[in-house]
Amino acid sequence: MTSGSSEATSTTRAGFVALAGRPNVGKSTLVNGLVGRKVAIVSDKPQTTRRAIRGVATEGDAQVVLVDLPGVQRPRDPLTERMQRRVERELADSDAALMVVNGEEGIGPGDRFIAQAVRAAALPVVIAVNKVDRLDRASTVRALTEAAELDVGDDVFPVSARTGAGVEPLRAHLAALMPAGPFLFAPEEQSDQSLDVVLAELVR
Ligand code: GDP
Ligand code: MG
Repeated sequence: MTSGSSEATSTTRAGFVALAGRPNVGKSTLVNGLVGRKVAIVSDKPQTTRRAIRGVATEGDAQVVLVDLPGVQRPRDPLTERMQRRVERELADSDAALMVVNGEEGIGPGDRFIAQAVRAAALPVVIAVNKVDRLDRASTVRALTEAAELDVGDDVFPVSARTGAGVEPLRAHLAALMPAGPFLFAPEEQSDQSLDVVLAELVR
């Protein structure tokens, strides 16, 4: 592949998705599902290395880089101005936000707190209602409705990070939101390294 050439630039999409959600809603599990087995090696782009990269999902012509949105996990702590600025900067450097909620527990104050922080940014926001493997059809509908009522998401996806249900449609949707541009990471054909190992080396 002629990465960096204008041809590659015109046919690929790549960007950052800021990942937000309360502890234990399943963010890590979902990132693993989105990334799948296509582990990527980090490029030398300084912008990518500065950020808390959780995973890189490369499929076909699109690359989605999932980054942590820090500082909005704890509704009991008021956001300091400093944290608020950090959140705003991270969102401004992202192309979309992915808010993960726990469909089994339903929406709570923690989710509303996060929604409020994310809503401030002029970004497409996607909500993943996770753990729907624990819900029957009626409860899933209720969870999706509650998530939509957060009034932050442009789209709401039911997923089970555990079983993988709904994860591919979510990935494809995020990929379509990414701007045209060259890959930020080189997709690795075969890697026996886990992403954790790769990233640990990166930040060393
Ligand atoms: P995080 O704190 O948001 O990163 O959440 P984790 O990914 O660590 O998941 C928290 C817990 O929820 C773990 O025990 C996961 O196994 C479980 N979990 C994650 N996704 C699902 C899911 O789709 N269904 C079910 N039933 N459990 C899940
Ligand atoms: Mg986690």
